[in-house]
Amino acid sequence: MAALQARCVLLTGSNRGIGLELVRQLLGGPHPPTHVFATCRDPEGARGKELRDLASKHPNLVLVKLDVADPSAIVSAAKIVEEKLNGAGLNLLINNAGIFTPVSLETVDSEEMIRAYKTNAVGPLLMAQAFLPLLKKAAQDSKEKRLSCNKAAIINISTLLGSIERTPESYFKPVISYRCSKAALNMLTRCQALTYSEAGILCVALHPGWVKTDMGTQEADLTVDTSVRGLLSVLPILSEKHSGMLLNWEGKAIPW
Ligand code: NDP
Repeated sequence: MAALQARCVLLTGSNRGIGLELVRQLLGGPHPPTHVFATCRDPEGARGKELRDLASKHPNLVLVKLDVADPSAIVSAAKIVEEKLNGAGLNLLINNAGIFTPVSLETVDSEEMIRAYKTNAVGPLLMAQAFLPLLKKAAQDSKEKRLSCNKAAIINISTLLGSIERTPESYFKPVISYRCSKAALNMLTRCQALTYSEAGILCVALHPGWVKTDMGTQEADLTVDTSVRGLLSVLPILSEKHSGMLLNWEGKAIPW
């Protein structure tokens, strides 16, 4: 089986849940990256403790403060990462941070819609804009001809709940703000794929499954370990033919 060999990886929302497990498994994998930039809102505080413990054992792990709902914080984080990379590019940007509020059509209000949209859709858009020069650099420096996660890629962690076609089967959970913001993220992924493929950057949306995290709750189907193992085995097989698609943690396509 192909293995992920991306040299420099950056993740958002990496202090707990799927993001933290992605960091753990990337560091413990057969080809650990030379740099893992684990970003989160509060790396110095209580919420960053597990990441700090990991960083004390892995010199290739760099913690960066980043709130994806704050456009100026995104620009500052990109500057910090550029300095640390010292002329190298960023191979893999994983937009993982997300929020979920259990609201229905009756209970949702404009503030909640905008809050979800800012974090789940606008954040990934601004992240890609800010990190584009570093992703382009990685694509240019790579010897690989084809699009791949080892060369340069943006992975947007999305959800089945953002699939318009599959809505009737999951609508018993309305979660309106979450669904609409993730449907927007799916559209963003397709637009990014059409725009950035010329620069050698692969753009794909991935659904991690229903996962036992704070968001997914303990009723979920998958352990975080199983979901992340799945996601990390899908990343190295992604190529042109997956550009702009939504796939699940087993690599199966999900309709828009
Ligand atoms: P969790 O709620 O367990 O973790 C969410 C992470 O996102 C936390 O690290 C949180 O940081 C971070 N985050 C939230 N808002 C921001 C922000 N503004 N800036 C930076 N970081 C932020 O969720 P999961 O790990 O379960 O979910 C990860 C991704 O997977 C999400 O995009 C989610 O939509 C998606 N997903 C999850 C599913 C599941 O079943 N769990 C199913 C389908 C998709 P903090 O600690 O600071 O709040």
